[in-house]
Amino acid sequence: MREAWGHFYGTAFWQRRRKLQLRQHPLCKFCADDGIVTPATHVDHVEPHRGDWNLFCLGALQSLCATCHSSRKQQIEARGFDIAVDADGWPTDPNHPANRHR
Ligand SMILES: [Zn+2]
Repeated sequence: MREAWGHFYGTAFWQRRRKLQLRQHPLCKFCADDGIVTPATHVDHVEPHRGDWNLFCLGALQSLCATCHSSRKQQIEARGFDIAVDADGWPTDPNHPANRHR
């Protein structure tokens, strides 16, 4: 599936940012949380940018392996929201039920 903002990923800006992210964080973050060392191949936005160019350019990134990236995507699509949390452990996705009554 290709989203409306798919072209963001084809920009020279993103290619540079992605390369830098993988150089600085070469291991999959989710695997590392489980104590597993896996080389990352995907660069993912911690907070879904949903086509917001500023967020796309400036939002925090995380390096993931293909398995974690695709399973996370599937979970988000199945649930309708992302379960990623910020440094305080609070869900970052505004669509997460915990954020709906704020
Ligand atoms: Zn992983």
